[in-house]
Amino acid sequence: MSKSPRIAVVGAGLGGAATAALLLQEGFNVHVYEQASGFSRLGAGIHVGPNVMKVLRRIGIEDEMNRQGSRPDFWYSRHWETGDVLAQIPLGDYAVKNYGASYLTVHRGDFHELLIKALPSEAVSFGKCLTKVVDRGNDVLLSFSDGTTEEVDIVIGADGVNSQIREELLGVEPPKYAGYLAHRAVFRTPELKAGMLPFDACVKWWSDDRHMMTYFVTSKADELYYVTGVPVEKWDLNDRWLPSSKEEMRETFRGWHPTVQALVDATVEVTKWSLLERDPLPLWSRGRLVLLGDACHPMKPHMAQGAAMAIEDGAMLARCFKEVGAHNHSEAFALYEANRAERASKVQRISHENTWLLTNEDPSWCFGYDVFNVPLVSPGKAA
Ligand code: FAD
Repeated sequence: MSKSPRIAVVGAGLGGAATAALLLQEGFNVHVYEQASGFSRLGAGIHVGPNVMKVLRRIGIEDEMNRQGSRPDFWYSRHWETGDVLAQIPLGDYAVKNYGASYLTVHRGDFHELLIKALPSEAVSFGKCLTKVVDRGNDVLLSFSDGTTEEVDIVIGADGVNSQIREELLGVEPPKYAGYLAHRAVFRTPELKAGMLPFDACVKWWSDDRHMMTYFVTSKADELYYVTGVPVEKWDLNDRWLPSSKEEMRETFRGWHPTVQALVDATVEVTKWSLLERDPLPLWSRGRLVLLGDACHPMKPHMAQGAAMAIEDGAMLARCFKEVGAHNHSEAFALYEANRAERASKVQRISHENTWLLTNEDPSWCFGYDVFNVPLVSPGKAA
């Protein structure tokens, strides 16, 4: 066959952008369609584990990530009231030596910008909201809200938790509200005062029913981020997020350790996000359509591995295309699912349970994973 199949990636989030960068690097014919007209520096941080940094090395942005991000020496888990250490998980040099790359915490907007910049501008179209996808057997017709259409050979649905591509494969079904919301705020690092602990570079404060994770998002440690998990029974699924307030934070974390109170006091702007999940999907692809990331396995963010799974998915999909050729898309999709479903489902389950690193456990199965070198499992042999 002569012509290289035209691959459309729908969605330029962290998963879609990374996937496109890797596929382009391998010489595939890829174009990205993103509904947003552009991205801004949203108030959020993100953990980038060594499992992801190995993918970013391949994309060519590992060094810049290391320059920009904070590299905590430990993940601490602390008691909400006393501040006692419940777990101390070595990261820093230990992660580089044992897991093969740094463990970073960064500003999500800075990370996303680096990924988008790794793509040639002619490979991405912004302002393209996919409204319809028709797999015609020999090709796929994509229709966008601006009235335009595109004919392509393969469609990668990296379009997030409310994925159009998932809907085409499995029908209309809204994600499940997990019964928790997450407050998110980024702010200047406050001064230390009497009674406070020094700010850990990466710490999760735990009570029985809620938590607050905090970390620096820059190498200069001048910006701090917190993200919470708080039980709230009802949420209108029409709102992905809503504004919150310092007062609401005070109420929600009343009686917590003075260090947590200082973070609440330092809050400038805070938003609250619904946490959404789906049960593992019965299929990841059909015909010429395939899913990755939140489109496929949205999860509570309590392992800080949702975007990591999206990026690993993209790297595995690129590896499978390379292995069997993009013309053999059915074979590539089967190989991809066989090598991703078990790990993604495990991370989904642990995220749901919210137990990750509460005690001193060994995280090497997660952080040490190398998507490019893990032995491939054949479709029939997957667990
Ligand atoms: P998304 O990031 O949702 O991207 C989907 C893209 O598709 C978007 O750009 C969207 O505009 C576009 N799109 C959607 N529909 C269409 C359409 N019809 N046409 C065209 N484009 C479309 N993960 C981590 O790894 N570490 C963390 O520390 C972490 N913290 C988190 C904290 C919170 C509070 C939350 C809610 C999540 C967190 N996550 C974290 C999870 C992570 O944010 C997601 O898992 C990740 O963003 C999924 O990436 P994605 O590319 O699959 O989807």
